Amino acid sequence: MVYFYNHLLQAIDGTKVSVNLDTNLLKEWFENQKRDLPWRRSPSPYAVWISEVMLQQTQVSVVIPYFQRWMERFPTIKSLASASLDEVIKMWEGLGYYSRARYLHEGAQFICTHYDGELPSDEQKLKKIKGLGPYTIGAILSFAFHQKKAAVDGNVIRVLTRFFGIKEDISKPSTIKLLQKKAEEILPENESWLVNEGLIELGATVCQKKASCSKCPLRKNCYSYINNEVSSLPIKSKRIQTEYLYRAVIVIKHEDHFLIKRGRKGEIMHDLHEFPFIETSVESLTDDQILEFVKKVYGLNVKQITELSDVSHSFTRFQVRLDPFLIICQKRLSVENMEWMSLKSLKKLAFSSGHRRIFQQVQDISDD
Ligand code: SF4
Repeated sequence: MVYFYNHLLQAIDGTKVSVNLDTNLLKEWFENQKRDLPWRRSPSPYAVWISEVMLQQTQVSVVIPYFQRWMERFPTIKSLASASLDEVIKMWEGLGYYSRARYLHEGAQFICTHYDGELPSDEQKLKKIKGLGPYTIGAILSFAFHQKKAAVDGNVIRVLTRFFGIKEDISKPSTIKLLQKKAEEILPENESWLVNEGLIELGATVCQKKASCSKCPLRKNCYSYINNEVSSLPIKSKRIQTEYLYRAVIVIKHEDHFLIKRGRKGEIMHDLHEFPFIETSVESLTDDQILEFVKKVYGLNVKQITELSDVSHSFTRFQVRLDPFLIICQKRLSVENMEWMSLKSLKKLAFSSGHRRIFQQVQDISDD
């Protein structure tokens, strides 16, 4: 059962303390402490949409240059809709979770077809745009259209569970639903968007995983702070196991062309480009094993093989180690589901993050 401590709670020493969340205090704190972020300077519905999607799973400092480049290249929804998917993915290269970029592109085309190129201020209409979840819809309605609507992200969840002493598992949808309700209940009639922004900012800068409660404007009434339970909230039961992958990456080159595969629909690397690779065990493959594979599977004769530097990277729940080999082959034969591409055209395409670093090594060698 979930308990919301709306007005009174029993503190550790047996006294009851008020836990009304003082939204005026929060607004005042936000106005004085807010970070100067590019999407806050002119929060158009489009800017809010792009920034909120970029900020999912990604740190603010990483997002800022991506956001600025994006808005320069695609200043309007129409310009995004008419760009090629390859260019959109290239602009996203390095941000990860590429389905976000595909949904933005698809969403922009949908908006142009159905909403005359403008994001609507109606919740039901926003729900029809692919990739827009409750948080992003709440953020657009609140920050851009100033509607009284909650926007509950991970930061808000942390602040609310700690402030109100909510000891339910936040991996349960029922808990998120209740937090959403709670976030809506506390919104004032006036300037409710400042309260949403304040909650998000507080979670991002003060009520972080390791909270700095001494800097928090809400600490006088915060359940967790008063009861010394800050480090134990929020409660999250589900743990995602990390999986380790080992791959021998074969960069096959003939003159200035490379053999490349594009991630197909349904694959994690959908629309990203990669060199061919072999899943291995923890052991690296030898040069002879690589040569045998290239001959047997691709039918290519090799002139030269060079081992490149290992690359480690992670995506979603995977930790990956890549052992790359550069192979110069004698002839450019066609290989099923792959394409020979020139160095010049490859520079315009998006690679998955580990393969981009290998491509950089290859370019450095080619430039020498
Ligand atoms: S007092 Fe501490 S735990 Fe409570 S809301 Fe503020 S930062 Fe979070």
